[in-house]
Amino acid sequence: INLCIMKIIDKALVQTIYKERNEISHKGSHGHSLIIAGSYNKMGASLISAKACLRSGTGLLTVLVPKSEKQTVNIYLPEAMLHFREDLIDFSTYNAIAIGPGLEQNEAAQKLVFSVFLIAKSLVIDADALNILAQNQDWFNDLPENSILTPHPKEFDRLFGEHNSEQERRLTAIKKAKEFNCVIVLKGHKTFITNGIDSFENTTGNSGLAKGGSGDALTGMITSFLAQKYTCLEASILGVYLHGLAADITLKTQSKESMLITDVIENIGLAFQ
Ligand code: AMP
Ligand code: MG
Repeated sequence: INLCIMKIIDKALVQTIYKERNEISHKGSHGHSLIIAGSYNKMGASLISAKACLRSGTGLLTVLVPKSEKQTVNIYLPEAMLHFREDLIDFSTYNAIAIGPGLEQNEAAQKLVFSVFLIAKSLVIDADALNILAQNQDWFNDLPENSILTPHPKEFDRLFGEHNSEQERRLTAIKKAKEFNCVIVLKGHKTFITNGIDSFENTTGNSGLAKGGSGDALTGMITSFLAQKYTCLEASILGVYLHGLAADITLKTQSKESMLITDVIENIGLAFQ
């Protein structure tokens, strides 16, 4: 395995991937995303993912939450549609699904993750869904065809064992992405993306992102791009680059200390420009 052929994610690369939005399109042209995130007491994760997903171009967004949290989503995100965890859902109708932020790891969450694995076609797996996968390693064989895993280093080590350095993690990421035919986004200061064949290192972002909620926004963005028919690798590259760039733009009005992820989400538009 050779890390030397790793490519840099910069403006030039992203411009070769980004597709201009079609002038004569309608909402159906841009995909329907489903975000499965949040639980009682952890609805922030759901709202952050959903808002970042909406700001990244998805045609439609549905958010799956516990019924008790209906008003939270209705009030904060009028653009989103709602489904409830307590109801039967046909997961096959969505162009892209995200699962994990703020989900918790109880039995109900485990069942939900497994049922999504069986039916989803394009799936972003993050946070508690990664922790659940770490406890059920045989589920790796049931990953949907187009799967993206977005672990931070701790989640990565829970999935694949302890590592002593970022370099070691990158080598494991390449090996595992190849073995399980998925894309792995190893998050951090210079986020690393691999599909087991091609590998990429991001150049945007700053330590203002080193706060709770940052990864939840990234998950929403990548899901939005997947729903818009970008490949797993393209959606990951676009999401990671624009997420970091929006954080860099936020430094014009905030400091690294004061920056909130909701400020960053409001600058996704400038990042696109
Ligand atoms: P999470 O730990 O799931 O909230 O994800 C954190 C997000 O913030 C990832 O997208 C990281 O790449 C990003 N991030 C965290 N710390 C830094 C940093 N020091 N520099 C750049 N990006 C960071
Ligand atoms: Mg996270």
